[in-house]
Formats: sequence, structure tokens, C-alpha cells
Amino acid sequence: MNSETKFLLPEDRIPRAWYNIISDLPEPPAPVLHPGTGQPIGPDDLAPLFPMALIGQEVSAEREIEIPEPVRDVYRLWRPAPLYRARRLEQVLDTPAHIYYKYEGVSPSGSHKPNTAVAQAFYNKEEGTKRLVTETGAGQWGSSLAFAGNLFGLDIDVYMVRISFDQKPYRRAAMETYGARCVASPSEETESGRAILAEKPDSTGSLGIAISEAVEIAAQNDDAKYALGSVLNHVLLHQTVIGLEAMEQMEMAGEDPDIVIGCAGGGSNFAGLAFPFLGQQLRGGRTRRAIAVEPMSCPTMTKGTYAYDFGDTAHLTPLVKMHTLGSGFVPPGFHAGGLRYHGMSPLVSALVDSGLVEAQAFLQTECFAAGVQFARAEGIIPAPESTHAVKAAINEAERCKEEGTKRTILFNLSGHGHFDMQAYTDYFAGKLTDQPHDESAMREALEKLPEVAAE
Ligand SMILES: *Cc1c(COP(=O)(O)O)cnc(C)c1O
Repeated sequence: MNSETKFLLPEDRIPRAWYNIISDLPEPPAPVLHPGTGQPIGPDDLAPLFPMALIGQEVSAEREIEIPEPVRDVYRLWRPAPLYRARRLEQVLDTPAHIYYKYEGVSPSGSHKPNTAVAQAFYNKEEGTKRLVTETGAGQWGSSLAFAGNLFGLDIDVYMVRISFDQKPYRRAAMETYGARCVASPSEETESGRAILAEKPDSTGSLGIAISEAVEIAAQNDDAKYALGSVLNHVLLHQTVIGLEAMEQMEMAGEDPDIVIGCAGGGSNFAGLAFPFLGQQLRGGRTRRAIAVEPMSCPTMTKGTYAYDFGDTAHLTPLVKMHTLGSGFVPPGFHAGGLRYHGMSPLVSALVDSGLVEAQAFLQTECFAAGVQFARAEGIIPAPESTHAVKAAINEAERCKEEGTKRTILFNLSGHGHFDMQAYTDYFAGKLTDQPHDESAMREALEKLPEVAAE
């Protein structure tokens, strides 16, 4: 066994292909349905929103999809991302477990999101898109797409959830620094936005509303396309660079993880780390536990229903089969903004449903406590979203101590928390509260699930 704490790959070890888990699944994913007809949709239905290359990736069953050289070239700015062994955290916990973490906070915007933003900007540029329109919650996706769009010469419009727009001026400034236009959502610029404002002029917005605005603009303008930062198959595909690198780095460390952990909002960073490992398992390799961690106040996988639902509030998106709290469910305003989404990636949902992936949920205060413990041991301040993965990893390490078993734990530290220090300030001031999951609001939203014949 190696005594190092930091495992770095040379630049030429940036993966040359993304890993597509669909190739190894026992059954094809449930079809995506047209919101009007309820029939499976084809590539033409998605063409107003996405370039053909990405639509192809969305439905591809190829195991490996080559990463274009211009994308790898941008990845070189921060990839391969480091893998660390959290030796000091192990000592503090006095655990026989070995804890490793892959650190995605080294990217220019401070999270894993540029892994897909760069790829999406590249394919859009190739197919003649002039303008990319998107939504952002806490601002991580918006700033990642702003960064990527700028590199490939695209105009970027970001509909930012009103409450974050007001509370997170630095994220907005980051987007503007990269040259993007940032609009508070709901806005007067779209029909979806105006409809919400007419009913509720002081609406604080939601991701579901912002998605409706962005999709509406992309659908109505020929030179504009839509970009989504999570949930979709092609986004998860692009994120597999995380796990592919981590596999090689774990080999360098001379270890093999027994447990692989990621936080899950739409599921992309979890999938990015876990899918390459799960792929080995699906092809007959060893079994590992894969844990997707969500907030207790937006418990999509642990409390939601696995059913067809819309991805947005105004019901403009296709229907996908996923774990959902109902598209009308507006999660309470907790600090891990990137985890405030009513749905979950269809691929992650299918794996949870089949038992291959475990889901866990934690309260935000226990996640911040874990984040502070991690920062004091390892030096990196985790993003509020990432503290959910930290919490689950610490739990598993503590269980190893109780049982006297050595296990190897690998988790994804999806981003740093430098833009989220207000959350830490609130935590230290004792102002963070744990909202219980609103069962009745969820039940109300789930009663309005669309009826789908194909199910
Ligand atoms: C957006 C975000 C998440 C949640 O999104 P996933 O698609 O579930 O990965 C998690 N961590 C950070 C740092 C994020 O920015």
C-alpha cells in the first residue's frame, strides 16, 4: 500500500472516451414521451432544443463515445482532477476505513459542471448555434456554461432563480465576467415567466420555472438552443471523466473502493463518479455499494415516486420516467441550491429502482457539521451540495469503526464552497434550520402526475 495522500495523473491520461452505462444495462431505458401525444419521441422532436450530436448521445447504446480533441484541450486547464486520500479525516474519526475523495472543485467555476458545459458548448458551436439559453439555481451551472460558451464564441443567456439572483450577487458577477447575460426568473421576457408574475408578482422562482423560460426561448428562436446542466443521459455521459480518472487513480493508490458515494441533485456528479465502477459490476466484475445522497427536505429518491413526469413547471419538456416529488413541488429554500430539484436523472432513478444504487437522505445541519469537520481536517471547504457526500462518507467510516472493519470509501467532492460562505455564516450563527419534508405538498403535487398509457 502506498503512503501518498495525493494521486495525480499526467495530462495525457485525460480519458479519450466517455463511458456510456446504457451499453451495459440489462434493459434499455424507459422511452422519453411527447408531452402532447404521450408517444415516444424521436430525434426531430428534440431538434429545436439540442444539437443532433447531443441528441445522438442521449439515445446511444455505444459503450465508448470519443471525446473530441477541442473538448479534451479545454479539459487540460484543470483535468485530470486530483484524487486525495483523506488521511487527516481518517485520524480524526479514528476509523480503520480508508477514505478517498475525487476533487472536482479545481475547475474554473469550482465544480464538476464544466465537464459537460464545455462539451455542450463545443457541439452547439459545431452545428451553428449562436446562442445558448439555460437556467441556473445557485449559479454553478450558469457560471460553468458562461465559461464554456465564452471559449467557443457563443452568446449565453441564463435565467437565474429569483431568490438566488438576489442572494448570490457574486455568482451573477462571475457569469457576467465570462460575458453571459443573467436574468432573474420568473422574468417578463417569456410567456411562462409573465404567467407566474401575473399570479404572484413577488415569486422567488424555482428551477422548474426557470427551465420553462429557457426552453420557451430556445424553442422559439432558430439560432438559439437550450442547455441543461444535469439529469439528461448526455450530461451524465460527459461527467464519466470523473470516474474514469478515479479508477486509474485508485489503482495508483493500490486500492479498490468498496463504497462509492456522491451527492445527487439531478444525479450527474454521482453518476460521473459511480457509473464507470457500476459498469465493471454490470459486466461481471466485483460488487460495490454505490450511494446517492440527497437532502431530507427534497427527498426525490427516498420519498418520491418512480413515474413519468415533466422536467419543468410549465410542462413544456418531454415526459421522462424518474423519481419525482411532482413537477408542481417547490422545494423549500435550503442552502444546497444545486440539490433543489423535484426530479432525478432517469438513469440514476432506474438504477435506484433496480437496487443497484442505494439512496440516502440527510438534514442540512448534519451535512454542514460534516462539511466543517472535513474542512478542518483536509483544508478544503466543501460546497453545501458536496457536504451531503461528505456526511455519508463519514457515516460509513464511523460504521467501520463500530464494526472493526476496514473498508475503502471513495466519494466525490463535487465543488468548493467559496461562493457559499453565507451558508456557513448562517450555520455558525445557529440560523440554519432543518425543514421537515412536506409530505402533504408532495402528495398534492404527485396527484397531478401526468397520466401515461405506455406505463
Ligand atoms: C449542481 C451541483 C450539484 C448537483 O448536481 P448533480 O447533477 O446532482 O451533480 C452538486 N454539487 C455541486 C458542487 C453542484 O454545483
